[in-house]
Amino acid sequence: MTAIPFNKPFMTGRELDYIREAVESGKISGNGLFTRRCHELMRRRFDFHATLLTSSCTDALEMAAILAGIGPGDEVIMPSYTFVSTANAFVLRGARIVFADSEPGTPNMDCRQVEALITARTRAIVPVHYAGVACDMDPLLELARQHDLLLIEDAAQAIDAYYKGRPLGGIGALGAFSFHETKNIISGEGGMLTVNEPSLSARAEIVWEKGTNRSAFWRGEVDKYGWVDIGSSFLPSDITAAFLYAQLEQLDAIQQQRRLLWERYRAALAPLGEQERVRLPHVPDYASNNAHMFYLVCRNLDERTGLIDHLKSQGIHAVFHYLSLHRSPYYAPHHDGRELPWCDHYADTLVRLPLFHELSLEQVDRIAAAIHDFYG
Ligand SMILES: *Cc1c(COP(=O)(O)O)cnc(C)c1O
Repeated sequence: MTAIPFNKPFMTGRELDYIREAVESGKISGNGLFTRRCHELMRRRFDFHATLLTSSCTDALEMAAILAGIGPGDEVIMPSYTFVSTANAFVLRGARIVFADSEPGTPNMDCRQVEALITARTRAIVPVHYAGVACDMDPLLELARQHDLLLIEDAAQAIDAYYKGRPLGGIGALGAFSFHETKNIISGEGGMLTVNEPSLSARAEIVWEKGTNRSAFWRGEVDKYGWVDIGSSFLPSDITAAFLYAQLEQLDAIQQQRRLLWERYRAALAPLGEQERVRLPHVPDYASNNAHMFYLVCRNLDERTGLIDHLKSQGIHAVFHYLSLHRSPYYAPHHDGRELPWCDHYADTLVRLPLFHELSLEQVDRIAAAIHDFYG
């Protein structure tokens, strides 16, 4: 019986052709031919106002924190059940993070709790679309409007996912995607910032290019370029963009295969869900499913440990996910002490099953059989 890894990066087959083309073009630094092709493809496909490739989603979030004008003492509201970069990007600018709990039905931030966390110092709300399943954005948009806050979407896992038909990453003023090799569309390391608030796009381009107006210079809009703002080297090499373009071209085929596997998991495990022995992923009516992840929620930590060990004994690599950020060694001393029980619950009980392009339906069946076997 061959082992089943948790993830295996998928190559469409055109990556090396495009990298060769980039190399032979003689220009492999950032903002080259393939970077522009990726920008254009994403803008057309999802109707984003502006897009900027970055070296990672972490970089895109750091750009968002700069563009939001976050400074020392400002407060930013976000879920505790997320990756460190969501919070770190704002902590780097001196912000205090106000963590919200997850909702009972999904690991997403409980949007109904957000209003009570808003103070005079709140500047931004950062929803994270966990597993590519949309947060309930309408109430957040309303709060952002009422309190004049910036909405920044951590859409790292949310490519080709929708909220009431609107593409995620295109709803808040800013959005951040990841192309890390564990995501649906990959470039090894990589990310993208979407700028949906037109008044931020000129500055976004400057922050992206180390605080210079070099992009405007390349377009012939200014006759020399210089240091006009803060920024960093957020843009990836065109070699990375070439790899990414080969992936984006195949977005539909990649998504179709992931959905097929996801649906197979759901069908095979539905009986366990109906018997309430384990919880299956919940996709609310307002959200679509981009099949980024298939997870289960066990009843408690011991059961999850037992399930992971059982699967491991069958050569199947399943993994847990985030540890609550409000309890992390770095942030716990700064947290305001509120209990976030649903976040802790997901930290203890959520397990992610293997899901990657080359996983076969037979392998999904084998994994599902092993899970049925565990629950006897
Ligand atoms: C993957 C991920 C990130 C970080 O993405 P990188 O491209 O690795 O920087 C941030 N937030 C969430 C929710 C993620 O899943």
